[in-house]
Amino acid sequence: MLRYSFVAISIVAVINLLLTEVFLVQILLAICVVTSLGIAIIWPEPLPPPPPPDLWSDAPETKDRETKVCSSCGKAVDKKWSMCPYCSKRV
Ligand SMILES: [Zn+2]
Repeated sequence: MLRYSFVAISIVAVINLLLTEVFLVQILLAICVVTSLGIAIIWPEPLPPPPPPDLWSDAPETKDRETKVCSSCGKAVDKKWSMCPYCSKRV
């Protein structure tokens, strides 16, 4: 969008350059045309293209920690634990 406004500026400057007869104004308009056209040509795209929608894979369904249930209080404890952290008895 900004690129088109620079193109419009250069077009208006070219029209002014054709209409004016003052030498200083002609020089200024020529500078304006060159810079605005140059910016319009080399201006980068404002946003990179959006990433593909399948970039992020779904989270794994399974849990990453193996759990078992405490035999005395019934709460879930880590499988490698030998003592229950809730009731402090052997699982
Ligand atoms: Zn317990």
